Amino acid sequence: MNMNLTAQQLEIRDLLREKDAILLAHYYQRGEIQDIADILGDSLALSMEAARTEARVLVFAGVHFMAESASILSPDKTVLLPKPDAGCPLADTIAPEALLAAKQDHPRTAVVTYINSSAAIKALSDVCCTSANAVKIVNSLKDAEEILMIPDGNLARYVSGKTDRKIIPWGGSCPIHDRLAAAEVLAMKAKHPRAVFAAHPECRPEVLALADYVGSTTGIIRYAGQDSVTEMLVGTEQGVLHQLRKQNPGKTFIPASEQMLCEDMKRITLMDIRDSLREMKHVVKVPDEVRIPAKRALDRMLSLS
Ligand code: SF4
Repeated sequence: MNMNLTAQQLEIRDLLREKDAILLAHYYQRGEIQDIADILGDSLALSMEAARTEARVLVFAGVHFMAESASILSPDKTVLLPKPDAGCPLADTIAPEALLAAKQDHPRTAVVTYINSSAAIKALSDVCCTSANAVKIVNSLKDAEEILMIPDGNLARYVSGKTDRKIIPWGGSCPIHDRLAAAEVLAMKAKHPRAVFAAHPECRPEVLALADYVGSTTGIIRYAGQDSVTEMLVGTEQGVLHQLRKQNPGKTFIPASEQMLCEDMKRITLMDIRDSLREMKHVVKVPDEVRIPAKRALDRMLSLS
């Protein structure tokens, strides 16, 4: 951890010790939050690590569905989301009623649900997936005639191109990744001809077609560490540039678009974390009637990964 911490960062570290808490931060969080996190990662990795810790309290610097995943996997711990209105517009593209109706229309369809979804949606799903394991999960569902992939249509189309299974994509998308246009990438490539282009599978198919590497946030960070990569156009949320630059001094990282900023991911500030810890407020708790079936879908994913 960076030793040159500000007074507010030090105060949070003291509060974490006092409350028997750990701070989990997603790669898309503000840099000053990433710098004091106990665990830094993508959404699933954070929740899995959190389930292993002895700490009594989990402070989740991320968005609501991530705090729910932590609650699903760690029901005995107190999970705090310092800004309760930090949501995910992608997760909001599907409501339980709409999924129930789709299941009625396609009774022989397996529902594969991206981790970026609410606990209520996970609870109605056959299995969850991440951007890293989606192809493997889909290929493992041998008995399903067709597969409904929710909620991200771009991820579903990406998986569809990597498998011979029949995939029905849901119409949702992440507005941050979906806003990256192929023309913008081509213009950036012309400006930085030596840079490789890495993109997240939540981007549009025509953007992914221009990428040297397609993968999850963790995958992009790993790819950036390769010796052959010295300059990279980054096709995902800009928060990841903080880690890319920290872990790879001497290499150049350029956002593929200045527009790839998730307002929800940037809602939480250091002050919110301090206040939430001080008052132990903004608890996220998934009730058992949702938690148990949602955990089943997550556990199935883990067993197939
Ligand atoms: Fe949701 Fe996209 Fe923001 Fe991630 S970057 S929290 S998927 S809106």
